[in-house]
Amino acid sequence: MQVPMLDLTEQYSSLRSEVLEVLDKVMSSSQFILGPNVKKLETDVAEYSRVAHAIGCANGSDAIHIALQALGVGPGDEVITTPFTFFATGGAIVRAGAKPVYVDIDPITFNIDPAKIEEAITDKTKAIIPVHLYGQMADMERIAEIAKKHHLAVVEDAAQAIGAKHNGKTVGELGSAATYSFFPTKNLGAYGDGGMIVTNDDEAAENCRVIRVHGSKPKYYHHVLGYNSRLDELQAAVLNIKFPHLDKWSELRREKAQMYTSLLKEKVGDMVVTPIEKEGNYHVFHQYTIRVENRDELQQFLKDQGVQTMIYYPLPLHVQPVFKDLGYKEGDLPLAEKAANEALSLPMFPELKTEQQEYVVAKIAEFYGK
Ligand SMILES: *Cc1c(COP(=O)(O)O)cnc(C)c1O
Repeated sequence: MQVPMLDLTEQYSSLRSEVLEVLDKVMSSSQFILGPNVKKLETDVAEYSRVAHAIGCANGSDAIHIALQALGVGPGDEVITTPFTFFATGGAIVRAGAKPVYVDIDPITFNIDPAKIEEAITDKTKAIIPVHLYGQMADMERIAEIAKKHHLAVVEDAAQAIGAKHNGKTVGELGSAATYSFFPTKNLGAYGDGGMIVTNDDEAAENCRVIRVHGSKPKYYHHVLGYNSRLDELQAAVLNIKFPHLDKWSELRREKAQMYTSLLKEKVGDMVVTPIEKEGNYHVFHQYTIRVENRDELQQFLKDQGVQTMIYYPLPLHVQPVFKDLGYKEGDLPLAEKAANEALSLPMFPELKTEQQEYVVAKIAEFYGK
């Protein structure tokens, strides 16, 4: 049996005729940039996130960069974030001209540990970027409290967590802004790149709208430095078709996650640490990530058996060569480093079959001699 990490073909088959129809409509209209499809998606995603504004942009990495700049983060500022994330989180801070300050993670959720944030705050700190890793929100209530006390902005990197909740609050509700990615593999994926910023802050929203069009307002007059970072109509049209299915897909991901957890507990026992959904959280399982010893050997074994897995992420940001000037060294953030050595993400997508999950777990059990 072959079990891919992600298979988007079944989803496409189910949406194909609708997708082709809207793509034809967009192409016939000849309106490709910031038209009615982008407007509709912005309106719907803002409502879904229970915030006043949504601003489409070119990708989830730009969304973080634009949100930071729109909230006034720039050269000389420090931004606190987690080292256990995709590169884009740290990259966006540096592109905004600021300095990333990495704080270690909560080993249970893999998210930034709020108890360690305050000791990292200096008089240069301007913002915090919690990343809702794998689809589970960070402890936004505590992070929002800390931010309020120290007058900091909070940009939630929700690239992996559209639809997630924390004590009834959505992504975007407690932060100054939140950012989504519509990269094809994300829970709401386009057929190319795309991203969005959501915020309740009127001024930040207006800044985002200006920054995504070269900082021009009115057209051809530039008071701030912006970029070309727009969501296009073809991608927005595809996303408008997919968006109404998102909650159902999240529920299916949660069912697959429960299935993995019960199979792993039954067949493998405590050789694997299964993901934990913290009380009050609604985890949307962008990834189903276990912790194991001999992770690399297990991954190779599974690969030989036809099971694809992924390591998100093998090297934390504080020890990435590109950030070496920040002065971190190995051992500085031990919990993130340990997670980088133990985390393994198993195949996860709404159309994953029970037989495939049973096969994956049987092979893991075989590896551990169970
Ligand atoms: C995917 C991702 C991004 C970047 O999104 P792109 O749309 O690929 O630019 C940022 N942060 C995290 C945590 C991500 O998973």
